Formats: sequence, C-alpha cells, structure tokens
Amino acid sequence: MLSTMQDEQLSLATLLNYASTFQGDSTVSTWTGDGLRTLTYRELGAEAARLANALRGLGIGVGDRVGTFMWNNNEHMVAYVAVPAMGAVLHALNIRFFPEQLVYVANHAEDQVVIVDGTLLPLFAQYLPNLKTVRHVIVANGDAAALTAPAGVQVHSYTELLAAQPDSFDYPIIDERSAAGMCYTSGTTGDPKGVVYSHRSNWLHASQVCAPNGMGFSAADMVLAIVPLFHANAWGLPYAALMSGANILMPDRFLQPQPLLEMMAVVKPTFAAAVPTIWGGVLAGLQAAPQDISHLRTCLVGGSALPPAMMHVFEEKFGVKLLHAWGMTETSPLGSVAHAPAGVDGEEQWAYRYTQGRFPAGVRARLVDDAGNVVPNDGNSLGEVQVRGAWITGSYYSPDGAEIEPDKFDDGWLRTGDVGKISPNGFLTLVDRSKDVIKSGGEWISSVDLENAMIGHPAVAEAAVIGIPDPKWAERPLVAVVLAEGQKAEPEELREFLANKFAKWQLPEYWTFVTEVPKTSVGKYDKKRLRAQHADGELTVTELG
Ligand code: ADP
Repeated sequence: MLSTMQDEQLSLATLLNYASTFQGDSTVSTWTGDGLRTLTYRELGAEAARLANALRGLGIGVGDRVGTFMWNNNEHMVAYVAVPAMGAVLHALNIRFFPEQLVYVANHAEDQVVIVDGTLLPLFAQYLPNLKTVRHVIVANGDAAALTAPAGVQVHSYTELLAAQPDSFDYPIIDERSAAGMCYTSGTTGDPKGVVYSHRSNWLHASQVCAPNGMGFSAADMVLAIVPLFHANAWGLPYAALMSGANILMPDRFLQPQPLLEMMAVVKPTFAAAVPTIWGGVLAGLQAAPQDISHLRTCLVGGSALPPAMMHVFEEKFGVKLLHAWGMTETSPLGSVAHAPAGVDGEEQWAYRYTQGRFPAGVRARLVDDAGNVVPNDGNSLGEVQVRGAWITGSYYSPDGAEIEPDKFDDGWLRTGDVGKISPNGFLTLVDRSKDVIKSGGEWISSVDLENAMIGHPAVAEAAVIGIPDPKWAERPLVAVVLAEGQKAEPEELREFLANKFAKWQLPEYWTFVTEVPKTSVGKYDKKRLRAQHADGELTVTELG
C-alpha cells in the first residue's frame, strides 16, 4: 500500500527558498577584522540567484562540479546554496591541503569552475596550471586582474559577474538523490577520498542538526561557524541555519584566538563549532585576558576527542557548555552528540558528556571485533565502530566506476576505523583510531586517554601521544608536550601526574618537548608526521627509568 503523501523532493532549493522568504530577516555575516558585512537571508536568496544565473551563463549545468577555494564568508555561503540549488555540485576545496592533494582532488572531482577568495589568489595561482578541467575562475573579495590564467581559462570578478545578473532563478526540480556537494577526507593515508552528498542526505542531516538531540538550532541563534566550510560539509551548519532561520557568523580568515574573541565580544554568538585545538587556543586567550563569553549557550566540539579537563574549565570558569560530538566526512558528518540523558545532571552528567555521544535515530551503529564478529552494545565490549544510515556514504566517489577502498565497507556498513564501545542506551565511547592505538605487549593503550589526562596538567598546552617501536613490548607510548606559555615541567613530574589515572604498565617512559604539535589540514594532531619526525630523529626524547 502506498501512502497518500505528496512526493515532494527534499532539495536544497526548497531550503534556500524557505530561508529567503519565511526566514528572510535572518542573516549571514562575515567578520572583516573590525566589523561585519551582512546579508539577510532575503538578500542571500537574490545573491544566490545572481550566482546561479552567472554560472549558467558560464555553461554550468546539472551535475557539473563547482569548486570553492575560500574562507568561511558570505560569498562562500552564497555558493553553498546557489550551486546545489541549480543542480550543480558544490566541491569545497580544502585550502590547507598539500599542493599535490589539492591538485589531485580538483582533477579527480573534475571541477569546471572555481570560486576563489582574493586573499588566497597567490596560493591558488600555484595550483591553477595543473587543474586540468577548470575553465573559469571567479575571484571574490579581490582583484581578478591579479590572476594570470593559463590558456583556456577565463578569470572573472565575482562582483562584476553578479552585477549583470537577474536576482531570480527558476531552480529545477531535481531528484533528491542527486549529488549536491562533495568533500574529500583529508587523506592521512594515501590519496584523499571523495564523498558525495545528496540533496536528500543534506536535508535529513540538517534536520538532525536542528533537532534538540543534535545542536538544537532556532531562529534565535547566532551560530559562529569556525569549522571550515570545506571540512566535512561544515558539520551541516549552513543548511541547518537555513532550515531553522538561525543567523550565521562567518569568521573569514580571522581564525586566531584573539580575533575570534574580538568577534565574539561584538556579535555575541549563541553557538559556535570548532575542533578541540581551536578551543584550546581560545581558552589560552581567555585565561590571559578573561572576557564574558556566557552568551554562548553551547560550543560544539568534534573532529578529535574533547579533553574532559577543557570541558570543565569552560563550564566552571566561563559558564559555557562544550558539547562533544563525533563524526566523519563519510557521515555528513554528524554521527553522535553527547547530551546527557533527560534527568541526569550534576556530577552524574559528566560520564555521558565525556563520551562521543548518543547516536541519533538516523544513524545505526554496531561494533565488530578483529575476527569479524558483531560484539554486544554492553558498554564494555570493544570493537570497530560501523555505521549506516541515510546520511552515511555507501562508497567513495570514483569517476571511472572502479571501487575505491572497498574494504572500508562491510556488508553495507561503513567501517569507521575507530575503536570503541557502545552502551546499551546508545552512547559511543571511542578508545582510539585503530591506527593510533598503541599495542604494548599484547595489550592496548589509548593514545587519546593519555592525551586527555595530560592536558589536565596546568603546565601543558598540548599533548599528543604516539606509539614508537619497542623491541620488548612492540610499541610504547611517546608523549609530545607543548608547555603553556611561561610554564615549566619535567617528564618525571608529568608522569607522576598520570600515575593515579593509569595502570603502571600504561605510563609512558618516553617524553619529548616540542614548540608545536604538527596539525593536519583540518587542525587535528598529525600523528603520522609526528611518527615521521620521531623516525627521522628530529625529536629529542627523554627516557625515564
Ligand atoms: P580525517 O579522517 O581526514 O581526519 P574527518 O574529519 O572526516 O577527517 O575525521 C573523522 C575522524 O575523526 C573519525 O573517524 C574519528 O577518528 C575522528 N573524530 C571525529 N570526532 C571525534 C571525537 N569527538 N572524538 C574522537 N575522535 C573523533
């Protein structure tokens, strides 16, 4: 029996239409360094129509890929809506990729047009000669004449191109399963892998972001989107903002703690989202010069494990709740969010809030052990986390149809590469990434647990733990510590600090002090590089007896 419901397609054009009319007074704004450039969603609608008309004039049609090489700003938001609404596919390029990665993904996705920020032109100019499919470059917030294009590539000024366009566009009705956007994983091993989101997956994902079990957006929110629009779909913030009428604040290139705190003081966002390393920097800034940030009802933190110590300082000293969430490029990315269950508060809430969070209805999850057996969600059994659902990818993008890393999929489930446990009421606790977990004498040591504990020491600003080869135990942990400004600490003292939190055999004997832990293109500890630095003898290591 079929339903009587209308077969309305869940397309991003409907979101754009909704936001630009019924939520037309809400805004997207960009921090300029000392103020704001603002578009109402009504104006965003008109600007999106102009961009869609302009792109159509350049020959872009349904299914064509439009790249962006941009900071988070108004123009990037315009592209985020206009490109999929017109049926084309938005490919937000990671501006921090290594040159070979950037060239690889733009060619692999076959981007036809790239919209580039003026401040990023010198960087982009280095890549452009190697981008095989790009025919047009549109320069926003800068001087198009500053870019010398290779033969066959036309350069346009965003402002001039859009000025000549009508402010309405007849968006096509497209199948909700069509491609709307794509992101590449940051490729810590091998080439980056492409994930293609559909209109439907983005729509359903945005609903979950808006839901109280997600991020709980409403039109009363001002959302500071620190997470880049190229990092895993910007965690769904742009489409969720349109869906809920939440206002969105874009930091542009002002991503250092000081300007972030400045824009917070002026705009007073109610919500912000970023990886832990950003929050670590913001915290150091706040400690040095305290400022009222209680306007933030919630800060979403994901991408890597959120150290409990950081949650406590933010909440107890600055009155701000850090909300821990887990996800991946492959999962759109919202996989789980750590709200304590109803009625659990006071000290008891922490046990839930430290976890990676509870799975929403749209994400099914299971644990599989090394032998391939599904293990119970009993809160103790460990296994690789596998997920499936309407916003989880079922494969990697492959232009020629050859399967890419098919072993990442197990009978329709995405293998996340994360090792963890799941409680009977659906809370996920990650132990580690399977490639980062330290295998010592047949037992496991969680690098994340050591890092989380270490960051609780007042002298420690950053701590990253890797396994290093050991003739007796196979691997032993090495702790790379960045000391907080003006602080001193000896390895003995740091190990002593860990002593009551870990079994004796888990306590690290290898220590190194570094000025900075290398970071990936999305701001996570780059343990691959740290391991290479150690292998190349670049780290001065102290061994405790
Ligand atoms: P990349 O894989 O390139 O780093 P992603 O942002 O897609 O890019 O990374 C997803 C991975 O990040 C997850 O598989 C997991 O290992 C890690 N991760 C994400 N959120 C968390 C979290 N809250 N705690 C621990 N690890 C996390």
